[in-house]
Amino acid sequence: MNKNDEIILKIDGTSSDGYGVGRHEGMAVFVPLTTEGDTVRTKILKVKKSFAYGKMTELIEPSMDRKSPDCDVFAQCGGCVYRHINYQKECEIKSKKVENNICRIGGYDLSPQPIISAERICRYRNKAQFPVSASGNTGFYAVHSHRIIESDKCLLQPEIFDKLCATIGDWIKTYNISVYDENNHKGLIRHIYLRIAEKTQEIMVVIIINGDSLNYSKELVDACISVAGDKIKSIQININKKDTNVILGDKCKTLWGSDFITDILCDVKIRISPLSFYQVNRDMAEKLYQKAAEYAECDNKTVLDLYCGAGTIGLGLAKRAKKIIGVEIIPDAIEDAKINAANNGIENAEFICMDAAAAAKELAARKLRPDVVIVDPPRKGCSSDLLSTIASDFSPERLVYVSCDSATLARDSAILRDYGYILTEYTPVDMFPSTAHIETVALLVRTVSTI
Ligand code: SAH
Repeated sequence: MNKNDEIILKIDGTSSDGYGVGRHEGMAVFVPLTTEGDTVRTKILKVKKSFAYGKMTELIEPSMDRKSPDCDVFAQCGGCVYRHINYQKECEIKSKKVENNICRIGGYDLSPQPIISAERICRYRNKAQFPVSASGNTGFYAVHSHRIIESDKCLLQPEIFDKLCATIGDWIKTYNISVYDENNHKGLIRHIYLRIAEKTQEIMVVIIINGDSLNYSKELVDACISVAGDKIKSIQININKKDTNVILGDKCKTLWGSDFITDILCDVKIRISPLSFYQVNRDMAEKLYQKAAEYAECDNKTVLDLYCGAGTIGLGLAKRAKKIIGVEIIPDAIEDAKINAANNGIENAEFICMDAAAAAKELAARKLRPDVVIVDPPRKGCSSDLLSTIASDFSPERLVYVSCDSATLARDSAILRDYGYILTEYTPVDMFPSTAHIETVALLVRTVSTI
C-alpha cells in the first residue's frame, strides 16, 4: 500500500479515538468519519509499518447505524467524533472499547456491566474553554491541531454559552482588545472559559489573558449581564503568561461578583472555583458516583478518596461512612473541598493537599488502614508506587477505581492482580456523548489478606 492509493474498504471496527477501521493487504486502515458497516472509497494519506491512515473520498454503501450529522463543523472540529451514527451504536462501540482494554491489556476474561447511557446527548457540558481567533471570534481547535475553527454554536454546550461567546466576541471587537497569537506569544485574550452550575443555573465567566489586567472590564460585565442576567455570579480573569499549550494559569482575579459558583451534586452543595476540577456532565456524574457508592459498600467504614478534586465523591458518601479522607494536589480544589464539607455540615471528612502517592505513603506510615479506597486519577492512571502502597500497606477490602481512560485502568488492574486484588465488576458510564471519551467505574476486591 502506498500514499495516494485509492482503495475500497469495508469498515468493520472502531479505533480508540473513534475512527472507522478496515483491513487491506493485512494492514489496519484508520479512516475518520466512517463507521462499522460502511463501505468506502479511501485515499491513503499516510502509511506506517503495520497500519495506515486514509480519508474517505466516497461513501459507497452506508452503515445501517448512520445518521446525518447535525453540526456544520463536525468534519473539521476536534471535539465530537460520533455525530454521524445513532446513539445506541455509539454506546455499543464505547462499551466494546472498555471491554477490549480490560481483556487485552488487563488480561481479564470479564464482560462489562451494561453501559450507563446518557439521557441528554446534546448540550450536556457545564464547562467550555473557547480559543479566540485573530478576528475575535470563538471557536474550537481542529483535530490534532491548534488551528481555530470558528463556530457560533456548539451542540455539546448549553445555549447560553453560545450567546455569551457572541457577546464577549463583540466586546473584544468593539474595544479593539488584542487576541493572543501563539506563534509570537503576543496579544492579550487567550481563551474564554465558561462554567454553569446546572442545578442553580449560576454562571462563571473567566477571561484567560496573557497579561495582568484587563481594560473595559465594566463594559465586559455589562455585556455578560445583558445576555445572562442575574445568572452571572462570577466574572474573573485568569493570568497565563506562559508560552505553552496549557490553557489555565495558576492565578485568578475576580473582576465582579463572587470567586466561585455553587452547584448541587448528590444532595451536596458544591462550590466550584475556576481552578477546581468539577465533572463536566453533572447528571452523569451523579450516576457515576451512585455506581461508585454501590461498589464501595462503605456504611460505617473509613474511606480514602484519592484524587478527590473538590471532594465531590467523598462528601456524597460522608453521611453513611464513618470517616472520609480526601487527597488532591491542587490547593484551590482542597480549599473548595474543606469549605464544601463545612457548608454541608459534614464533620467526618478531612482533606489533604498533596500528591496522591506521597500522601498514601504518609498515611500508611501513620497506620491509617482504610476499609475502602477510591481512586479517580487523570488519564495516566496511578503510579506503581501508589498501587503498591494501596495494596500492600492499606490492604482495603474494596478498591473502587473511577477511570477516564480504560487503557490505564486495565494496566493498573493487571498490576493489582499481582497483589491479590481481583477486578470483579466494571461499568462504563457515558459522561461524554458524541466524543470518543468514556468513563468507567470498576470494583476490585481483596482476595488474600496481607495484614
Ligand atoms: N474525584 C474528583 C476529581 C477527579 S479528576 C471528581 O470526581 O470531581 C482527577 C483529579 O486528580 C483532579 O482534581 C486533579 O487535580 C487531581 N490530581 C492530578 N494529579 C494528582 C496527583 N498526583 N495527586 C493528587 N491529585 C492529583
